[in-house]
Amino acid sequence: MSRFLAARDQGRICLVGAPFDSTTSYRPGARFGPDEIRRASQGLETFSPEQENDLEDCDFTDMGDLELPFGDPSPALAMIEATIGELMEQGKIPLLLGGEHLVSLGAIRAVTGRFPDLRIVHLDAHADLRDDYLGQRLSHASVIRRAVDLLGRDRIRQFGIRSCTREEYPLVKSLAADVPQIIAWAGGSPCYLTCDLDILDPAVFPGTGTPEPGGISFQALTEALVRLIGGLRIAGMDVVELAPNMDTTGVSSITAAKIVRECIIALCRRRS
Ligand code: MN
Ligand code: MN
Repeated sequence: MSRFLAARDQGRICLVGAPFDSTTSYRPGARFGPDEIRRASQGLETFSPEQENDLEDCDFTDMGDLELPFGDPSPALAMIEATIGELMEQGKIPLLLGGEHLVSLGAIRAVTGRFPDLRIVHLDAHADLRDDYLGQRLSHASVIRRAVDLLGRDRIRQFGIRSCTREEYPLVKSLAADVPQIIAWAGGSPCYLTCDLDILDPAVFPGTGTPEPGGISFQALTEALVRLIGGLRIAGMDVVELAPNMDTTGVSSITAAKIVRECIIALCRRRS
């Protein structure tokens, strides 16, 4: 049984799966991410020694997966936006499980509706700032550019980026920040935290659609996430781009599940 189902029914933190990978550009499979994260969570303890806290003491719930249409991404994004919007109305903090990175755009649209002064913190190997990818403006390679369109570049910061086009590079340099800089920049503003798991080095996380050599360690990512969640006013967040079929050992799924566990515990500590 999923560790994330062994939770209270009426949690403030709400997990929602978005099994969607229609715009994946290289290796598909992120649609299997949410299920595999839950399945892999069975192999984990509920207790986090790092945070000295237990999932079983956390006020969260797992709503399961959205049923999303494939092909044209617009209807899927509209469904994600509607669901996250309902959660926002109820005062919940959504934790969206991808799916490819484009699913974040639906959530960002919904959270911006509730918090017009929203800021975005983007963890990724890739800049995702292309205006389009092969003519497609709704693409996982363009998701942060669409967020720039929505909020402006001054309200976005990036961490971990090591791959971009020549055209993206000036903007990448202007958005790059480390964890203390991000926390200082955000002040008390509401933030949406989006974590593309390919920020990790492919040696520790090969199960993703667009692996990028030269990434950070598991410890570095969990430490960054726990510090960001503790230091920011999180209005919503996501963990995306696990493609479990790309890693036959299953270690990437367990890695993703452990990161989700640490995020839930950090979010619950933050709100209590
Ligand atoms: Mn991405
Ligand atoms: Mn990426």
